[in-house]
Amino acid sequence: PPPSLGSSVIPISNKLQDIFAQLGSRSTMEIPQVAVVGSQSSGKSSVLESLVGRDFLPRGPEICTRRPLLLQLLQTKPNSEEYGEFLHLPGKSFYDFTEIRKEIQAETEREAGRNKGVSDKQVHLKIFSPNVLDITLVDLPGITKVPVGDQPSDIEARIRTMIMSYIKIPSCLILAVTPANSDLANSDALQIAGNADPDGYRTIGVITKLDIMDRGTNARNFLLGKVIPLRLGYVGVVNRSQEDIMLNRSIKDALVAEEKFFRSHPVYSDIVDRCGIPQLAKKLNQILVQHIKAILPGLKSRISAALVSVAKEHSSYGEITESKAGQGALLLNILSKYSEAFSSMIEGKSKEMSTS
Ligand code: GDP
Ligand code: MG
Repeated sequence: PPPSLGSSVIPISNKLQDIFAQLGSRSTMEIPQVAVVGSQSSGKSSVLESLVGRDFLPRGPEICTRRPLLLQLLQTKPNSEEYGEFLHLPGKSFYDFTEIRKEIQAETEREAGRNKGVSDKQVHLKIFSPNVLDITLVDLPGITKVPVGDQPSDIEARIRTMIMSYIKIPSCLILAVTPANSDLANSDALQIAGNADPDGYRTIGVITKLDIMDRGTNARNFLLGKVIPLRLGYVGVVNRSQEDIMLNRSIKDALVAEEKFFRSHPVYSDIVDRCGIPQLAKKLNQILVQHIKAILPGLKSRISAALVSVAKEHSSYGEITESKAGQGALLLNILSKYSEAFSSMIEGKSKEMSTS
């Protein structure tokens, strides 16, 4: 299978999700989201699709993403079949990912019309798959300057406000997507990400379209952070072109081609650790691990507090709450075990977590 979000953080992330769920929905606020920002047609949807490893998002040279898409990835048992479910179509499972794309388009039109209109009402899609990490990705409409079709005259301000409402949340990681065939130093993506995250603790720069830069130019200095420095750095990628999309080229083939492009390119071959979708997935995983590590202590004390109150309840009501107290103790146990394993993983003592 193509490399996708997942690998080492999956087991911990899953346990944490269970724990979060049992602590009540309030805690899920802390579960990281990843949002893509950038100008229209910069390649945001293409990047998200490659990260997930499946074809299902509307992509194209015109405005395609016209409503925010909340894409919740949920990891299922190994070898189980991948499927999607929409919040607006409860109980209906989509096993055909082409149908998922059609439904995103249809649902976009229901709310935002057929003539390039934009709406801030979310489309909410869950994808169940054995190959993903439990995480929420947000695909957002791109920044656009000149109103077209049904767009109001203040379209740019509206889209910026919509984007900010997602990326200002402190637990939101920002993928700031800039196409290499534009003026990199004037990136809309880096500008809006800088407004939401001025210290750059949660912004990753993504440079797309490295394959179609003007001849004689390259993005090497940019990827190295020499033009606009970024704390978390940059990753360069090559997504499928519009022609590839029309020819139905698969993600798998595109990833092979991307790898070859960077490996054989005179300007990028010695910085391949900053190039390619698999590197982006790796970087995201590392940052997510750090994020989860940062929220673990608070989570632990919250569970301890919950345990104490359950124990008090227990002593005043007798047997009734026994099972609840047992559950709490079990949770705390799991958490301790995982936070230890977690620390050692972060410190590099063991590369992979065991899935016991
Ligand atoms: P979005 O509007 O930012 O979501 O951009 P899309 O993902 O819809 O892509 C816009 C267009 O750019 C599509 O036609 C893609 O095929 C094309 N595209 C995206 N990334 C790349 C890339 O890295 N190289 C090339 N050649 N085309 C790309
Ligand atoms: Mg898009």
